[in-house]
Amino acid sequence: MTALYEVYAIKYAQHARRAAENFIGGDPHDGPMPLDYFVWLVRGGGRELVVDTGFSGAVAARRGREHLRCPTEGLRLLGVDAAKVRDVVITHLHYDHVGNFDLFPAATLHLQDLEMRYATGRHMRHECFRGAFEVEDVVGMLRRVYEGRVQFHDGDAELLPGVSLHLIGGHTMGLQAVRIATRRGAIVLASDASHFYANMEQARPFPIVWSVGDMVEGYRRLRQLAASPAHIIPGHDPLVLERYPPAGGELEGIAARLD
Ligand SMILES: [Zn+2]
Repeated sequence: MTALYEVYAIKYAQHARRAAENFIGGDPHDGPMPLDYFVWLVRGGGRELVVDTGFSGAVAARRGREHLRCPTEGLRLLGVDAAKVRDVVITHLHYDHVGNFDLFPAATLHLQDLEMRYATGRHMRHECFRGAFEVEDVVGMLRRVYEGRVQFHDGDAELLPGVSLHLIGGHTMGLQAVRIATRRGAIVLASDASHFYANMEQARPFPIVWSVGDMVEGYRRLRQLAASPAHIIPGHDPLVLERYPPAGGELEGIAARLD
C-alpha cells in the first residue's frame, strides 16, 4: 500500500505589488495583488521531504521583499530540524526557491537536468532570463554537484512511494512540480508552474517566463496530475493560507495544512 503524506505550506516572506506585475500584458482591473513566498514540507511513512529552501534576509533586503522568518524557522515550528533533512526538492533555481540550501547540510538536492543547463548556459547572458537568479546560488549548487550531493532527474521520476517529480518547464527550462499522495487524493505542488490560482485558471501567464507555450501547456499538465483542480497548490498565492486551515493554533498566517 502506498504511504499517504501530510503536506504543509510555510510562508516566509511577502511582497506588496500590483496585479499588472503578475500577468503578461498587465491587468485591465489593476489593483493590489500581493505575492507570498513559501517553502513546503511533505511528511509521512517515516520520511521528511522539503520542497524549496526560500531566500535569506540579506537577499530580501537587496530585492525589496519583506522577510518574515527564515524558512528553517518555519520548519522548526512544525518540528523539523533543517540540519537533519535528507531530501530537498529544488523546483527551480530562482533566488526565492534555492537560497539557504547551505542550511540543509545533510540533504540530497533533487534538481532537473534542464534547470542546471538553463542556469549555467547561454540564456543567462540576458537580464530578462537571469533576473530572478542569484549567481551565488547557482555557483553554490554547482559546488554541491561536485560534492556529489545533487541528484539529477531527467523528466518525471518517483522520489518516494506516492511522491513524484514532474518536469513542467515554462517559467524556467527545468521547472518541476511535485505530486503527493494524500488522504484526500493527489495534491500537486505547482511551485511557479502557476504563481497564482488566476494564472492557471484564466491561462494568463506570469511575466517571468522562459517559454510561454510550455507555461500554458503546463497548466493542463498540472490538472492531469492532480486529483482535481482544487488539489493544485500555486507557488505564491496568499489565498493558499485562506483556503487551507492553519497547521496548528499558533500557526495562523504562517503554515497551512494542505492534505
Ligand atoms: Zn517563485
